[in-house]
Amino acid sequence: MKLPKKRDNDYSAEAIRERVKFLSKLSGHKPEYLTSSAIDPDLTRGNIENIIGFAQLPVGVIGPLLIHGEHAKGNFFVPMATSEGALVSSYNRGAHAISLSGGVNVVVTADSIQRAPYFVLEDVHKAKAFSQWIVENFSQLKAIAEGTTRHGKLIKHHSFIQGRMVIVRFYFSSGDAMGMNMITKASHEICKYISTHYPIIDYAIESNMAVDKKPAHINSILGRGKSLTAEVLLKEKIISRLLHTNAKAINAAYHRQVAGGLIAGALGSNGHLANGIAALFMACGQDLANVSESCVGQIHTEVSGKDLYVSLRLPSLVVGTVGGGTSLPTQRECLEILGCYGEGKVHKFAEIVTGTLLAGELSLAAAVVAGDFVTAHEKLGRNRPDSKPN
Ligand code: NAP
Repeated sequence: MKLPKKRDNDYSAEAIRERVKFLSKLSGHKPEYLTSSAIDPDLTRGNIENIIGFAQLPVGVIGPLLIHGEHAKGNFFVPMATSEGALVSSYNRGAHAISLSGGVNVVVTADSIQRAPYFVLEDVHKAKAFSQWIVENFSQLKAIAEGTTRHGKLIKHHSFIQGRMVIVRFYFSSGDAMGMNMITKASHEICKYISTHYPIIDYAIESNMAVDKKPAHINSILGRGKSLTAEVLLKEKIISRLLHTNAKAINAAYHRQVAGGLIAGALGSNGHLANGIAALFMACGQDLANVSESCVGQIHTEVSGKDLYVSLRLPSLVVGTVGGGTSLPTQRECLEILGCYGEGKVHKFAEIVTGTLLAGELSLAAAVVAGDFVTAHEKLGRNRPDSKPN
């Protein structure tokens, strides 16, 4: 049993119909909604193969969220795509609490994206000599890499020697693109140059030390994509009125949850950064697999009088505002709602994402402390099969 053969225009209505017919016959169910999007399938070239339709997800909005960033300034209404009931309401509540407390401060602290090829030498002595050669020839490697892209820049590298293998972790800046295609091409050229100018035994473009699409300490410590930090001083009155608790209670809960996370061996310490990241990534055309490293972050809280100071460190947020899925029609529209589509917008987008995440963290922490956690989900987030029309 095989999918129908590829056509010259594999994005045509005919090609799609043929694949859908094949699947309908196989499953006994004819998809109706999957194939009913108004979006021209041709616009998905470069984003998908063997297309059979569009997965449609509900998109909600939160806000206003008052952000004082270096790039994002003012009130924002943030689109979030999710199927988890209560999520949008919760982020919305957090956004109001932040805005009424004076807003969230946020800055981008670092920006780089990595590829990490490995090279095999004869022995440890040759491996050490090779790592020195990389240092001495860095400007040549930089010129080769930057010959493949207008926006990508090779910034620095770190070498890690394991026996006769040298892993070279290259750090690039990638303009407004998240950059993995861009820097993979650049790294490929670097590898080709090294393999013809140095007596290596073997190499491959990736050692798994990038670390792309996996949570890892190295990304948490040294950064990947955009690194950011944000802070808010939540006012006592707002905590009481909107979040139904107080600064001391939230602070105590956070510190106890750090202990729980340590026992569990969690990377980072946060309530549910992945929720906001996934919902924003889905809405705004980011690569969803990068949720895995983007969601490693640390929340820190301090009681300040009767107010609560909360900060978030987000070291490895992998985002772009050009390239990838950002120009797909609905994804582009969501970026446009934020004023973040296209060139010169990636740091603004990263700041908005970070501010939004802080909103979600506060609302969840307060819900857990105030005992609203279960009731909110019971009210907004249940979808028992018997409660839906067929
Ligand atoms: P892309 O869509 O492949 O390429 C974007 C291109 O846009 C850049 O190469 C750049 O051309 C151009 N560009 C125009 N204006 C720009 C600006 N202001 N800033 C930056 N670039 C600009 O996107 P990508 O970000 O390189 O890669 C993202 C995609 O890679 C995602 O779809 C992701 O799923 C996929 N991905 C690939 C790999 C891989 O190993 N290849 C791994 C993980 C994910 P110039 O290069 O000429 O500047």
